[in-house]
Amino acid sequence: MIRFDNSYARMPEGFFARVNPTPVSAPRLLALNGPLADRLGLDRDLLASGPGVEMLAGNALPPGAEPIAQAYAGHQFGGFVPQLGDGRAVLLGEVVAPDGARFDLQLKGSGPTPFSRRGDGRAWMGPVLREYAVSEFMAAMDVPTTRALAAVATGDMVWREQGGLPGAVLTRVASSHIRVGTFQYFAVRDRQDALAALTDHVIARHYPDATGALDLLDRVVARQAETIAHWMSLGFIHGVMNTDNMAISGETIDYGPCAFMDAYHPATVFSSIDRTGRYAWANQPQIAVWNLAQFATCLIPLMGEEEAAVEAATASVHRFAPLYQAAWMRRFGAKLGIEGEPHRPLIEALLSLMAQQRGDFTRVFAGLSDGTARDEFTDRAAFDAWARDWQALSPDQAMMLQANPRRIPRNHRIEAAIESAVAGDMSTFNRLFEAVTHPRDLRDDWADLSHAPLEQEVVHHTFCGT
Ligand code: AMP
Ligand code: MG
Repeated sequence: MIRFDNSYARMPEGFFARVNPTPVSAPRLLALNGPLADRLGLDRDLLASGPGVEMLAGNALPPGAEPIAQAYAGHQFGGFVPQLGDGRAVLLGEVVAPDGARFDLQLKGSGPTPFSRRGDGRAWMGPVLREYAVSEFMAAMDVPTTRALAAVATGDMVWREQGGLPGAVLTRVASSHIRVGTFQYFAVRDRQDALAALTDHVIARHYPDATGALDLLDRVVARQAETIAHWMSLGFIHGVMNTDNMAISGETIDYGPCAFMDAYHPATVFSSIDRTGRYAWANQPQIAVWNLAQFATCLIPLMGEEEAAVEAATASVHRFAPLYQAAWMRRFGAKLGIEGEPHRPLIEALLSLMAQQRGDFTRVFAGLSDGTARDEFTDRAAFDAWARDWQALSPDQAMMLQANPRRIPRNHRIEAAIESAVAGDMSTFNRLFEAVTHPRDLRDDWADLSHAPLEQEVVHHTFCGT
């Protein structure tokens, strides 16, 4: 029995469309996240059973579910689209965990909805497994993120540029799926009543201490500054930071073309559709500010007298920069086992050496703890000179081991795991998943998963899930 309390389905007319998932022909469980099931108070054995898998595939509805597709708008690569919405996902409902915490339970790839436009409402196994592994790695590194409860193969084919591919459904868990684009949807329609209701809902759900729209904005700005700094510290590139893919909760959402850097360079971009590098690694904080400015614009009508509201909202968005800088310093300082703003130039010096010599982002930082970092550099003397200055600060090893993953879900490893999964073998994926969800553990049997890709293994492009 799942304890549902579907507060979003009680929102006014126009917030969503009621729509059931479309049944699939032959559901088969690919992966189930036992610890997350426990966290939600769900019975993992039941979920893995025949009726459980039927539910995770969208073939059967659990009692208490009220499936809806949420309405939202969004700026995609800077261009505004007044209606996007859940085109290939349905929110089954909100689960209340044993500790009272509330989580959205969403099926992604569950068939068409009134927001599907020309899409088929489906997902193929590749992006489903990619999101499953990457979002759970992020959770293991304590990055605010949506989670993955299950992945189910549908037994149906989906048709993409590459041809026919095996379909899959991801069960995504989030503290909510409310995005900047949700606010934009009502703002562009001049629905002040709806904006006020949405603001109240978000405050009650995510920021219960917030005193109103401006205070909400302040808090979202602060949370996003933390989240983005955390991404940066892991070499994570979201890839599609459209306003519909920025969650008001501060959780990382929408793992479409995301990827982690192997060799470090700030201009790194993977997404095949990001031709101008809008969402390159180093651009992410500026893009976050741009998105938050869109959010602020939506809230201004709720902030009283217009001129004062604009001024206050602008000041709020501008606070991102110092908050982000402080969070960046804390995160990168921890990677080096040091604390304090005066050490910023030391961090920047290492990053610039890494960029010049294409040091592997993850291996350099992890290697600082075991003396192997210098192997990542061609000019060892330059690294050694840097390391002497750093060692002089007596870096805190425990801090470093906490901040630096030994292993990340590298692109070439994910692709190999997907290839095997498509061929019917989940063992490569399962091993990768275990390794990246225990990212700090020193394990000799996982040593191969820490290697950087060989030249011929390097993945240059990633694709959206569509
Ligand atoms: P995304 O790039 O995943 O953030 O999706 C952008 C928009 O396209 C959202 O409104 C999605 O629901 C919609 N969308 C993406 N893929 C599909 C699909 N296969 N079928 C229907 N809608 C989709
Ligand atoms: Mg999206």
